[in-house]
Amino acid sequence: MITIKTPEEIELLNIAGSIVYDTHKYLQKYLKPGISTLELDKLAHDYIISRGATPSFLNYDGFPNTLCISVNDEVVHGIPSKRKLKNGDIVSIDIGACYKGYHGDSAWSYCIGNISDEEKRLMEGTEKALYAGIEMVKPGNRIGDISKAVESVAKAYNLSVVRELVGHGVGTDVHEDPEVPNYVTNYKGPLLKEGMVIAIEPMLNLGKRGVYLSDNDWTVITSDHQKSAHFEHTVAVTKDGYKILTGE
Ligand code: MG
Ligand code: MG
Repeated sequence: MITIKTPEEIELLNIAGSIVYDTHKYLQKYLKPGISTLELDKLAHDYIISRGATPSFLNYDGFPNTLCISVNDEVVHGIPSKRKLKNGDIVSIDIGACYKGYHGDSAWSYCIGNISDEEKRLMEGTEKALYAGIEMVKPGNRIGDISKAVESVAKAYNLSVVRELVGHGVGTDVHEDPEVPNYVTNYKGPLLKEGMVIAIEPMLNLGKRGVYLSDNDWTVITSDHQKSAHFEHTVAVTKDGYKILTGE
């Protein structure tokens, strides 16, 4: 069921989203070779708590940490560990925070030190795909319009679209209806209406689109072990367009 949020609820979702945005900004200064993903997790955990919120993903379906940190060929749901970041890594950090019962959800990919031109294409194409999807958010458009815009940017950048995971509604649950695929399907999807809140989150691969689930039953990895990127914002449908809730 797709819920329509009241202006008061959207205000709470925006506060949660701002905490997520600020957590990304806070972590950026620590993103250097040598830091472990578990150290980043601890920093984010304490920061989110200090803002009067709780981490949305901690204990979600048994997920053990605050952040999903997915490095290189890991697409999503990487579990923080003693693994240290190194020069040339692409690290995707997915952050969820819950404020007064309402969630914000945003993922961003960062490069550590120097990356190749091919990897820059991956980063630029995935971020552009996110914003192309967001541009389609307005009442009267359909979820399928977002999917089409995301997929067309992926094609233009010669990147492949992961299909096993999709965007979603956001509210009092971090994952609500509707699903927001990053590729065109036969179904155009529900109409967008003022007050809907969705997370748009392209996951694009440099190589083929195939993925598999790692032995930890969480982390999704590219089958060809080429790199993947992930950019996500939580967005509200407004009277005549959209508002990014996890932005500045
Ligand atoms: Mg997320
Ligand atoms: Mg999400």
